[in-house]
Amino acid sequence: MRILIVEDEPTLQSQLAQGAREAGYAVDVAGNGVDGHYQGDTEPYDAVVLDLGLPQMDGITVLRKWRAAGRTMPVLILTARDGWHEKVAGIDAGADDYLTKPFHMEELLARLRGLIRRAGGHASSELVCGPLTIDIRNSRATVNGQALTLTSHEYRVLTYLMHHRDEVISRADLVEHIYAQDFDRDSNTVEVFIARLRKKLPPGLIETVRGLGYRLTAPQ
Ligand code: CA
Repeated sequence: MRILIVEDEPTLQSQLAQGAREAGYAVDVAGNGVDGHYQGDTEPYDAVVLDLGLPQMDGITVLRKWRAAGRTMPVLILTARDGWHEKVAGIDAGADDYLTKPFHMEELLARLRGLIRRAGGHASSELVCGPLTIDIRNSRATVNGQALTLTSHEYRVLTYLMHHRDEVISRADLVEHIYAQDFDRDSNTVEVFIARLRKKLPPGLIETVRGLGYRLTAPQ
């Protein structure tokens, strides 16, 4: 899962980015509204954290432009304390959730998990596919109750496939959702991650759909 953080305050921006990376996300950051708008308009994020008070273009305008252009990714806005009117304006502009500054990182991460889960149509924090379960609250993957040891990239690939189970996901999609923008991307590494995951998972869970990509599906 890949997220965008748009926050102009450098200390908060780096705290947010670090916390989200530690939670397993690929993270891009922007420090003003113009850059943030451009990134959210051109890259396929699974969720966005958007501060409303931003230089160059305010957060409400950024959000309105995304929504007017048909960008449907979940957006969590950050508002100033006592800024109830900001919350109303933000939600009316298309925000899915909000947090009031200051907040705890744990709460932000919980809200992000909820947004991403609901965007994928999942009712529970436990994603299940046959014998495989991922608990997104603690990033734990298990097969028949036995814990799996995964690298951060393997976890991202598997979580993305789990959020989109039974869908065919192309290699290009996987690349865009597991790497941050500044990462040296190589789509061949996706094949390597898939091969490693298959060794750790029961056979048949990750199908190759020739010429199209991969599909995670419960074995019949
Ligand atoms: Ca700000």
